[in-house]
Amino acid sequence: MEYTTNSPEETEALGASMGARLKAGTVVAFTGDLGAGKTAFVRGLARGLGIADRVTSPTFTIVNEYDGGRLPLFHFDMYRLGSADELFEIGWEDYLGRGGVCAVEWSENVAEALEGDCVRVDIRRGANDGQRFITMTEGGER
Ligand code: ADP
Ligand code: MG
Repeated sequence: MEYTTNSPEETEALGASMGARLKAGTVVAFTGDLGAGKTAFVRGLARGLGIADRVTSPTFTIVNEYDGGRLPLFHFDMYRLGSADELFEIGWEDYLGRGGVCAVEWSENVAEALEGDCVRVDIRRGANDGQRFITMTEGGER
C-alpha cells in the first residue's frame, strides 16, 4: 500500500493506525534516509499501541523499550550496526520472543536478520516540502 503524507503529524497518524492493528511478535522493518520520518512513524506506532511515553530516537542506545501499552514496543535503530551479527549479539532473538512489536530503523544494515517475516515500511521524500511517500508491504507469517 502506498500513502502520501504532508506533515510529521500525518505520518504519525499513519503509524498510529498500524499500531492499533499489530499482533504480538510483529517486526516492522523501516528503510529510508536520515530525516525521512521513520522515528515519526514509530512515534505513531507507540500511540496506536496505547503507549503514553514519547518515543525518541534510540541512535545512541540501539534499542529502547516502551511498556504500558497493549503490547510492548522495542524500538531499534541499526544506523551504527555494520552487520546482522551485531544484532544477534544484542539479543535480537530474545526480543523476538517477548511478545511485543519490534520496530527497526535502518533495517537495510541488518537485512539478513530480517528476511521474509516482517512488515516493511519505506519512506521517501517527495518534491514538496514536508511531502513523504510511504510504502507498506506485508511479508511472511508475522
Ligand atoms: P528519521 O527517523 O527517518 O531519521 P525523523 O522522524 O527523526 O526521521 O525526522 C523526520 C523529520 O522530517 C522531522 O524533522 C520532521 O519534522 C520532518 N518532516 C517533514 N515532513 C514530514 C512528514 N510528512 N513525515 C515525517 N516527517 C516529516
Ligand atoms: Mg530515526
